[in-house]
Amino acid sequence: MSVRVVARLRPLLDKELEKDIIVNAEGSKDGKVTNIVRIPNPKNESEEFSFAFNGVYDMETTQEELFTNEVAPTLKSLFQGLDVTLFAYGVTGTGKTHTMRGGLKLSERGVIPRLLSGIYRRGRKVAKDSGGETSVSITLSYYEIYNDKVYDLFEPPEKRSLAGLPLREKDGKTIVVGLSERACDDLKDFEKLYIEANNNRSTAGTKLNAQSSRSHAILMVKVHQVSSEGTLISTASAIDLAGSEDNRRTDNGRGDKRIPYRESKMTRILSLGQNNGITIMILNLAPLRSYHLDTLSSLNVSSRAKRIEVREIENEIVFTQPPRKANTSGASLQQRQPLR
Ligand code: ADP
Ligand code: MG
Repeated sequence: MSVRVVARLRPLLDKELEKDIIVNAEGSKDGKVTNIVRIPNPKNESEEFSFAFNGVYDMETTQEELFTNEVAPTLKSLFQGLDVTLFAYGVTGTGKTHTMRGGLKLSERGVIPRLLSGIYRRGRKVAKDSGGETSVSITLSYYEIYNDKVYDLFEPPEKRSLAGLPLREKDGKTIVVGLSERACDDLKDFEKLYIEANNNRSTAGTKLNAQSSRSHAILMVKVHQVSSEGTLISTASAIDLAGSEDNRRTDNGRGDKRIPYRESKMTRILSLGQNNGITIMILNLAPLRSYHLDTLSSLNVSSRAKRIEVREIENEIVFTQPPRKANTSGASLQQRQPLR
């Protein structure tokens, strides 16, 4: 299975003008699904480039529609033991944070609060359907990558070590060593924790878009399903990436050392090539001419991402007790068996 890549075009904002629209997002045409984004060739505007995606969402798309179409269907797999990774990619100002976090109004809530709400609802159902045999609990980790260093967002900035937290490979996954994990029992708990953590971001308090666009925020929601058989853990990750714009263009004269995207920690964490489970990339787009070159380059990057293969491997149940039915190979406490 490969990465599912969908594009979302944001609407015009207050001071933006209809005449500056150059991007066309088409989900369907004449009743047929087309899923195409069109943009003029900057070198020759009589020509047009077309990009095909697994899904295309136009300016009118609501937060609810996006969630219902793209994220809700992954919840079942998550509870079956697959990891789910959702990330928003695109130029600064295209709607990544709006898509992932969203606004305060209920209808404006983004993917993340809706995901949590869906996980709690499904968790209650799984527990109920098992007749109390399975209990479900949720823990959260939340970190940011800023200047290629990893910081725990559940720790206040003054407790941070400047060096950040190290990364390590474990069982084919990249883990952040020393990252804290908080139990979170319901949506109310989540909202409180999430708001606090967002205030811990390196860029919190600064209104400087140039800075806030440089931090990646990664929320990991671990689902623990515990029964007499053992524990099954799967993780949903929701990632609000830093702006994809070419900093060589936007930082002229700043003298910052630019970290190439390819070698950054972020790339390692996304580690698309070795990712297991379901990955959905949401490419956020602004409709305006002022974003022309950056929009084109993000369209190119994300259409390449479609071809990255992802292995769909379920997490395994870890037995707390020897399996009831003895295994001829001698099942031990450590032995892992896939959950059916
Ligand atoms: P990014 O995180 O990619 O830099 P933001 O999410 O901050 O971009 O969005 C930039 C601006 O556009 C914000 O003011 C945001 O509220 C607005 N915006 C983005 N997407 C939408 C949308 N789908 N509907 C309404 N407003 C949006
Ligand atoms: Mg943002």
